[in-house]
Amino acid sequence: MSLDEMGLAATQLVGADTPGCGPLRGARQASSASLRQRIYEQVRSAGRISRAALAKELEVSPGSVTPLVSDLIATHLLRELEDETQHTGRGRPPVTLGVNPDRGLVAGLKVSDHEFSALLVDLAGHPVAQATLLRAAESRSVADLLRDVAMLYDRLMTAAGPGAPPVLGVGLGMPGMIDHASGRMRWSPIVAERDVDLQGLVSAQLGLPVSVDNDANLLTMAELWFGKGRSLSDFAVVTIEYGVGLGLVVDHAPYRGAHGLGMELGHTKVQLDGALCRCGQRGCLEAYVADFALVREAPIALDGALPPRGEVLATLYAQAKDGNEAARAIFDRAGRYLTLGIANVANLFDPRRIILSGSRMRYDFLYARELLEEVAGLTLNTPPPIEVNAWDDFVWARGAAALALSDLTPRLMA
Ligand SMILES: [Zn+2]
Repeated sequence: MSLDEMGLAATQLVGADTPGCGPLRGARQASSASLRQRIYEQVRSAGRISRAALAKELEVSPGSVTPLVSDLIATHLLRELEDETQHTGRGRPPVTLGVNPDRGLVAGLKVSDHEFSALLVDLAGHPVAQATLLRAAESRSVADLLRDVAMLYDRLMTAAGPGAPPVLGVGLGMPGMIDHASGRMRWSPIVAERDVDLQGLVSAQLGLPVSVDNDANLLTMAELWFGKGRSLSDFAVVTIEYGVGLGLVVDHAPYRGAHGLGMELGHTKVQLDGALCRCGQRGCLEAYVADFALVREAPIALDGALPPRGEVLATLYAQAKDGNEAARAIFDRAGRYLTLGIANVANLFDPRRIILSGSRMRYDFLYARELLEEVAGLTLNTPPPIEVNAWDDFVWARGAAALALSDLTPRLMA
């Protein structure tokens, strides 16, 4: 298939002057980070900020900020900007600091069972180029995956055009059990092999430092770096795609568990000896809410007239909308189980906000207002605000870019 046939397959984006990126945590930063790194991160999250405001935000003296800022400018990580918005008309406009976007780029890549997406952003978080690639249905091996990732990356760099700053890091996300710390893919529903050194293989393929994570954590990173979670210290993201995922942010940082494999909301049990799940166990939340659970019940509601695989869910949804009671009942039951899962998250973690995200959110029966109101009856205290987020298709790639920026920062400071 040619690029033209695929429509918007690769696009160069015009940089917008976004108001910074990354968690807005002020003086509350990881104590292990150096003051130099905290200054860089503070400037990046503010977008542009004066030296005086920077010292105030970090709760340190202006005298300790000045030499470190000079060093960050000398090493081309920060730059000075004339702030026209504060200009009173006389003399030179006041000078603010910003991240130098030309120092380098990072690439965010999202791999799924049907479409791969990629986004290139500069070090200030501005999108520079994007690309997509349709995956061949028969490709199931790690070798195929590596070939497709290389093709997607080439397409992205072609979209960026010649003369683009160097790419300094890559973030890659995919569904399954992906251990960010070790870089290993323990298991993924879209690849046949198990326990693969995903980070090492992709890094060798692209010749760049690579960070890997699961897709629920990518959405969480997108919220934390670019979305509504930037100013929230503690929040949860519940995702519904092939399964049910959970991302948790604790004190402005993603929580990943002791082995990088936690947050398996989809496999928490909501029924003893319940329905069989893909994982082989019974009674998992996913066995009542995920695609496969809805598709499994579709034949009854559709009276045996099954559409081609891949269209079952959409057909079931259309029927439910048209008043097919049995189809409606399938979505209602899934929605009630989802409500149970959301209430459990609220009871366990007391987050400031729960954000529902993912492509399945278009099936609005799953999160109908009446269902979300039921959460209050299942939690001990007033539940947190629940929000449904409608990002575009590049949200995962954007989260992968945030992952790359986050892991690149300490290396930039070295
Ligand atoms: Zn399960």
